[in-house]
Amino acid sequence: MKDTVSCPLCQSRRGVELQRTAPIEGHDSTVESGFAAPGDTIQFYGCLHCGLIFRLPRPSADFLARYYSDVLPPQIPGIIGRLGATQEQAASRTERRFLEEFRRLQRFVGTRRGHVLDVGGGRGEALVPWLEAGWRTTLVDLGVKQRPAVHPAITELSSLAAADGACAPADVMLSFHCLEHALDLKVALRELRAASKAGSLWAIEVPLELPYIRGLLGPKGLIQPQVNAEHLNFFTPQSLRWAAQSIGLRVLGVVLDVVLYWFGPSVVLRLYGNDARRAPVIAADAFPSERAFRSYLRWRLIVWRRIGGLKFRAFRYRHREYL
Ligand SMILES: [Zn+2]
Repeated sequence: MKDTVSCPLCQSRRGVELQRTAPIEGHDSTVESGFAAPGDTIQFYGCLHCGLIFRLPRPSADFLARYYSDVLPPQIPGIIGRLGATQEQAASRTERRFLEEFRRLQRFVGTRRGHVLDVGGGRGEALVPWLEAGWRTTLVDLGVKQRPAVHPAITELSSLAAADGACAPADVMLSFHCLEHALDLKVALRELRAASKAGSLWAIEVPLELPYIRGLLGPKGLIQPQVNAEHLNFFTPQSLRWAAQSIGLRVLGVVLDVVLYWFGPSVVLRLYGNDARRAPVIAADAFPSERAFRSYLRWRLIVWRRIGGLKFRAFRYRHREYL
């Protein structure tokens, strides 16, 4: 690993290059969106300490802030159309998805009410069921200036850093499909933790993409770019757990699940945690060597793909009227 590169989650320099792509051409989405330049290769690094897989090169913080606040929001309706969904379909799938998630989280919170905060939540669709149940709701998203929240009662913040501590601590912290975009996960998690309080319930969801990157463990330098242009970090269940524990959460569970994303069913990892204000455990390296990391991934990628496939089919059957 290059001297200047450290893991975006644990900052260890014990990373190994697992794979890299062929040089990227101009029509690739990573180039079109500005996340890579023509001729770049995307390198997938695995961190031997925390188990995160992340990609290089990474864009600058300034580029990302501009991208998520100004460039992306006006493009979203067009993106929905290109992926074959109408605005109505996307809205109804999103509503259904977050109602199901609200019901799952109700099992943890019971009938109490409080303050729920959604970080990276787009227009705050995930907050609507909470709002209707009498909760105070706060949406944190860089795009809020261009795409305001879906309901006027939702408090909007463009970032937690911008709030500078003015945001009341939350009883429930939601982070759906956000951490895979973060340039510096350590900083992002620290900001999240500052908005939480002892006993807060957390739900973190990230896409499970690793089993679907073909050739990830194969001969080096052969694979085609096939990643979401915006996703910089790729979580395993282990590294998601590591991330939660690094900010003092007690992990209640990590599940591999299928959710009804706006474009259709999507395989995800979801972590539930409780802000136990624990001191982070300084654990030993997760893997002693690149070989150990590769052999860990080799059969797990197959298992995750298999479980994801079974759940995907069951999900399609259960939600057939929405697909
Ligand atoms: Zn790491």
